[in-house]
Parts: sequence; structure tokens; C-alpha cells
Amino acid sequence: MTQATRIDGKAFAARLRETVGEHALAFAQKTGRKPGLAVVLVGEDPASQVYVGSKHKACIAANMESFEHRLPADTSEADLLALVEQLNADPAVDGVLVQLPLPPQIDEQKVIATIDPDKDVDGFHVISAGRLSVGQEGFVPCTPLGCIMLLKDLHGDLSGMDAVVIGRSNIVGKPMAQLLVDANATVTIAHSRTKNLAEVVRRADIVVAAVGRAEMVRGDWIKPGASVIDVGINRLPPEPGKEKGRLVGDVAYDEAAAVAGAITPVPGGVGPMTIAVLLRNTLVAAHRNASLDPPEGL
Ligand code: NDP
Repeated sequence: MTQATRIDGKAFAARLRETVGEHALAFAQKTGRKPGLAVVLVGEDPASQVYVGSKHKACIAANMESFEHRLPADTSEADLLALVEQLNADPAVDGVLVQLPLPPQIDEQKVIATIDPDKDVDGFHVISAGRLSVGQEGFVPCTPLGCIMLLKDLHGDLSGMDAVVIGRSNIVGKPMAQLLVDANATVTIAHSRTKNLAEVVRRADIVVAAVGRAEMVRGDWIKPGASVIDVGINRLPPEPGKEKGRLVGDVAYDEAAAVAGAITPVPGGVGPMTIAVLLRNTLVAAHRNASLDPPEGL
């Protein structure tokens, strides 16, 4: 029996994309150019190709310019770094995103470090992480920013709530914890060495699961009424006769939904937020690069 409110990330993301699109139009009218996002894909990883295609379409739909650079899998690190430098210097480009993972001959950290932090719309640069950490204006990774938007939409004020973030990666767990602290929640970061994880999670008013283990968080780990944000995207092995397995999150949805107050589904929860926030970050970058105040409330 499902009791929890299903947090509709898909609908929230669609509204955000529409709002960003309206602001992008106003930006173009003011400045004579559209906000521009450059996306670089190296190689032919099928999942990356789908992501890059989706980002391109989303940009166009949001009245933005999309600059796609598809490079062969054997591209050298030097050539990729040269392209990033060129995009950094291009005034039509407000955001630069290099799709990960990169082929083995290329050092990902070096590439991320070469992106101009003021165009780092993915928020992966160490300067972006530092700015988030000390509360300076910068860019926050899209997925955790999308999660905090959903939580603020749900609760308004998160002050004093107990939050547990499971996962401590640089792109999800750590920035998520920082955003929750900034929103005045009391935050615990759990990871693979955490003892009694179920008990730790049971104390939380807010649970954010970003682990990458199918349905690890069980219903009896959830405090009644808690809000559950499931970042995980895991594909189960295919059932007999099917080509592909089902996509599930890090939370056992049906069990958790019977206890939680609100929960994001997988798919249709956090996933759609990521591209919507990328567009939001690009719009903000465009305003800053044009020395304009970014629109409020985004
Ligand atoms: P990482 O693999 O980088 O990090 C996983 C984290 O989970 C680590 O901190 C790890 O701990 C922790 N962990 C692993 N096993 C356990 C365990 N048994 N108990 C507790 N903690 C554990 O993953 P990401 O942060 O990049 O991504 C997490 C999930 O989110 C993945 O499923 C990914 O596909 C999904 N994702 C979804 C996005 C979206 O758009 N919706 C975007 C980005 C990611 P330790 O540090 O100790 O190893």
C-alpha cells in the first residue's frame, strides 16, 4: 500500500525548463545573443551519446544555443585541452561541459581543471567545490542542486531537520550534504564504512540515497513520514524474455513508500532534474558573463 506523496521530479523539471526558456528569451532580447552551452563528447559510449543528445535538444527547447563537439575516441589529451581553452575564450559560450567518462588516454581531472570556473556549469571544478564550501557565488553540481530544489519545494524550510546523505562522491554526496547544511538541516554523511546504516537512516527526516546499489535502502530503515530522495539509477538483470532489465533506484520504492511521507520514484524523480538544472546553471552563467543579475528564484 503506497501512502507517501510521490515527488514528481519530471513535472518539476518541465516547469523549471519552461521558466528558464522564458528567461533565456528575455536575455536574448536584452543582449542580442542567446545563452550558449558547449557540450563535448569524446568517443561513442552509447549512454553518453544519449545524454549529449538530450542536452542538445533541451538547450534548443529552452531558447539557448547548443554547441556540440563530437570527437573521436582516440582524441589526444592535448587536443581536448586545446578545445576546452578555445571554448573558454569564446564569448558565445557561457557554459562548458565535457561529458564523462573520458577514454583512458585522457586525464579527467586535468580536463575539468582546464574549464573556466565561471563557465563550469557542471560544478565539478575544484574552484566550484571550494566556492560552494565557503559560500561564494559559483556553480553547484546539477544533480544535488536538483535534489535540494525538490526538498525546498516540498518543505519550504528545512531548518533543524535531520538529514542523512548516503554516499560521499564529489558530484553527488558531498555537495548534497553541503547544500543541506546551508539550508540549516543537521546532516550526517554515510558511506560504505558507516556502522549500523539502517539505524542511522532511521533517525532521518530527510534521506538522500546516492550509492548505486539497487534497492539497498529498505522500507524498515525509513522513519515514518520522512522525505526520501533517491538519486540511484540501477538496471536490474533482464527478466526472462526481456532484452533489458528494469531501472530501479537505491531505495526499495514500494516498501519505503508505505512508510515515508514523500518519495521520488526512479525513473521520473531526480533524473529529469539534472538536465533542467544544467539549463538553469547555463542561464545563470550567461547573466554573470554579461554582467547582469541572474533572475531571482531560480
Ligand atoms: P559513486 O560510486 O561515486 O559513490 C557511491 C557512494 O556510495 C560512495 O561514497 C560509497 O562509499 C557509497 N557506498 C557504496 N556502497 C555502500 C554501502 N553498502 N553502504 C553505504 N554507502 C555505500 O556514485 P555517484 O555518487 O556518482 O552516484 C551514486 C548513484 O547516483 C549511482 O547510482 C548513479 O548512477 C546515480 N546518479 C544519478 C544521477 C541522476 O541524474 N539522477 C546523476 C549522478 C549519479 P565509499 O565512499 O566509502 O566508497
